[in-house]
Amino acid sequence: MISNRELFLKNTAQTSESPRLIEVERAEGIYLYGPNGKSYMDLVSGFNVSNIGHRHPRVLAAIQDQLDKFMHVTVYGEFVQAPQVQLATELLAVLPDSFGSVYFTNSGAEAVEGSMKIAKKFTGRRQLIAAKKAYHGSTQGALSLIGDEAYREAYAPLLPEIKFIDYNEMADLNQINTETAAVIVEAIQGEAGVRVPEKAYMQALRKRCDETGTLLIFDEIQTGFGRTGKLFAFEHYDIVPDILMLAKGIGGGMPLGAFVARKEVMDVIKANPMLGHITTFGGHPVSCAAARASLAVIQEEQLVEQVAAKAALFRAELDISQIQEIRGLGLMMCLQLENFDQVYAVSNYCAEQGLIIDWYLHCETALRIAPPLTISEEEIKTACKIIREAIVKFC
Ligand code: PLP
Repeated sequence: MISNRELFLKNTAQTSESPRLIEVERAEGIYLYGPNGKSYMDLVSGFNVSNIGHRHPRVLAAIQDQLDKFMHVTVYGEFVQAPQVQLATELLAVLPDSFGSVYFTNSGAEAVEGSMKIAKKFTGRRQLIAAKKAYHGSTQGALSLIGDEAYREAYAPLLPEIKFIDYNEMADLNQINTETAAVIVEAIQGEAGVRVPEKAYMQALRKRCDETGTLLIFDEIQTGFGRTGKLFAFEHYDIVPDILMLAKGIGGGMPLGAFVARKEVMDVIKANPMLGHITTFGGHPVSCAAARASLAVIQEEQLVEQVAAKAALFRAELDISQIQEIRGLGLMMCLQLENFDQVYAVSNYCAEQGLIIDWYLHCETALRIAPPLTISEEEIKTACKIIREAIVKFC
């Protein structure tokens, strides 16, 4: 019989020459389980998705409850579907008052696409500014904002009239002018290797956008839902963006994204022409039900409040000379090593020992650590012991 691994390589699209090939049969809490009974601690949360762990019982119950009522019934924006309406209301309740309307999507990239569109239509301007080393997704619009020329060039031509500035570089802010529809930035650059900007930079960016009538769009697709020690990372900077893009951790493990804006900004898609941004599956009722449960878990289990202490424990346990730097905020962390060979060897060794860590798209010299926020102190100590062992062995 042909194994699933062989069928994976033969019949499913391959995105690299070296997939990790870990076969998953089951997942629960912070663990994945393979067919041979091998368990893996998931220290990357399925890439910043499983903030409350895998298959949280509250999420499973909410999904089951919604399955018993209805699944897909119609395209987005026509019928009144309680899971969407309730989730939008609950999201707006935890966001600043300036946000007044939520558009649900299937994914992060789709939230980026919608945000770019409403920013251009609302301002009547065509120019967008993104940051070098940014990652916002793989669709053509989102790819146009990606801060790595090699990725853009490979799929050219992409969107015109996009300028790139250096992230966290005050001097570049004067490139934002009255022709700029929006500046799109990650609240913390993730794939660049977790680059945390200075608060003063984010405040100056907000000010420059205000001065020029430019919308400030924050990508919180990796940073959202408690990951950094606040429910949303913009709270660290004491500023409020005009458009907030969410995905990954929003759905409790189900596919969902959203962009959130002031009502008058969102309303541009209603007319001239009508139905300016539509989607069949965006805001799927089962995903929205899961997202409501996930948000409730984050709040009721006070997961955000525990992030700083857990992050401090990671930092204390990983205080070894071979790690050049630990960057990050809260449980969005990266361990800087010297080269990719070390990163590769360490992450492979960790996988053999039952620990999943990874690296970053635009920073292959650093290890990605982003565990479920539900990870316990004991589990942090166990994980760090394996990481230390691996680093001492290979670095
Ligand atoms: N923005 C950021 C910061 C991301 O990390 C990602 C995905 O990794 C995206 C956008 C795109 O999200 P999706 O993969 O759901 O399209």
